[in-house]
Amino acid sequence: MIENENPVIARSLWSDTANPTPACPPLIGEAETEVAVIGGGFTGLSAALHLAEAGRRVTVLEAETPGWGASGRNGGQVNPGLKDAPDAIEARFGAQAGGRMVALSGAAGQLVFDLIRRHAIQCDAVQSGWIRAAHTPKAREELHDLARQWQQRGADVAPLSAQEIAEMIGTEAYCGGLSDRRGGNLHPLNYALGLAGAAQKAGAVLHGRSRATGLEKTAGGYRIATAQGTLTAEKLLLCTNGYTDGLMPPLARTVVPVRSVQVATDPLPENVLETLLPGLQAPSDSRRLLLYFRRDAQGRFIMGGRGAYSDGATRRQMAALRRVSEQMFPQLKGVRWGYGWGGFVAVTADHYPHLNRLGDGVLAGLGYNGRGVAMGTAMGRVMADWAMGKPDAELDFPITPARPIPLHGLRRLGVAATVTGYRLLDRLGV
Ligand SMILES: Cc1cc2nc3c(=O)[nH]c(=O)nc-3n(C[C@H](O)[C@H](O)[C@H](O)COP(=O)(O)OP(=O)(O)OC[C@H]3O[C@@H](n4cnc5c(N)ncnc54)[C@H](O)[C@@H]3O)c2cc1C
Repeated sequence: MIENENPVIARSLWSDTANPTPACPPLIGEAETEVAVIGGGFTGLSAALHLAEAGRRVTVLEAETPGWGASGRNGGQVNPGLKDAPDAIEARFGAQAGGRMVALSGAAGQLVFDLIRRHAIQCDAVQSGWIRAAHTPKAREELHDLARQWQQRGADVAPLSAQEIAEMIGTEAYCGGLSDRRGGNLHPLNYALGLAGAAQKAGAVLHGRSRATGLEKTAGGYRIATAQGTLTAEKLLLCTNGYTDGLMPPLARTVVPVRSVQVATDPLPENVLETLLPGLQAPSDSRRLLLYFRRDAQGRFIMGGRGAYSDGATRRQMAALRRVSEQMFPQLKGVRWGYGWGGFVAVTADHYPHLNRLGDGVLAGLGYNGRGVAMGTAMGRVMADWAMGKPDAELDFPITPARPIPLHGLRRLGVAATVTGYRLLDRLGV
């Protein structure tokens, strides 16, 4: 179970199969560091690891334990790239900045697998590829065009026909798609715990159960208050994504936290596994309310989807995910579904992640729109580069001012209306 979480979404496969959590005692008393990192998910832990490896003094404050947020609860799909295709990113941000964003996001999956190898992180990582599955012919054409754009940039991405995708996934639910061989999947909580251990080994200090509750500007940086201590730092990295609280307004108003939910079966028998994702790829589909699914190392099937807010809606969504899984894969009928859990992803108005400067010496990195395993890891490295003094213009991701979303107070209504609209459009197949 995920500790200190609402019971409706706390029964997590990943927390039940986690490696031991590295010791992260709370901050007690006065401490001082060069860079303070708030939030111990992939973004904050990657930033801490990269800073510590470069010999910098870095301290992470995490409200619960490392990987407690989305990083320890997600689908574990390692997805390269951003939501838009490379040509669109370069057109929007210009050849130079856009080109860097394309390169960073395209290589983000490889960064994850390289870190896992370099630090011998035990997290069942397989670079088996990420499948994008088209639910309509229009989506298939878009995915084939996306594959072509990545191929032009030398990436190992290939278009898939209806027959190829049916053979790879084990269902005829999709009419084509693409295979991105830079991606794959892993045990997300064990990846986060492994990053935490590697950061500690490199010299980073990690404090769990240490929510940052107050910030005060000082002559040389910031003083950060927790329940039992105070940390003074020259620079501050905010890595709180869908769990961003009111610590530094207006950051919380730049993202909409949306609940993503997953369900998992018990380990499946060999004859079923032979017919279901035999190559262990991680597919996600082209619906607006996307479905993402995979197998884990013990042969469980895991299905996820987004959009529920209330507990009642979450229970209904878990039931719907089990139902749709059994429709897509009739061989799952009658299996036991042992787990159902969820967490918050951070959605942004433009569907891009953001690097926001929030004052002198403060940078926030967030808004992965449900794709932060690879991108959060990469963003953490960019944030470390910034904290070590790399000029803004040379960073691999542009820094922008924090722009609060208009009518943010009505976000719950907005999410509910958007989900209903998206569900309708998905059903109409447009
Ligand atoms: C169910 C689900 C499925 C998903 N599936 C995928 C997937 O398959 N592939 C993919 O790429 N992405 C997926 N995502 C998204 C991905 O998990 C996130 O984008 C990523 O984990 C974000 O990492 P992070 O470190 O930025 O934030 P988080 O991991 O959310 O960490 C933020 C941390 O900040 C801490 N915090 C907040 N406020 C404070 C404070 N004041 N003081 C101290 N600590 C604080 C929180 O406790 C939390 O641990 C999924 C997300 C969910 C919820």
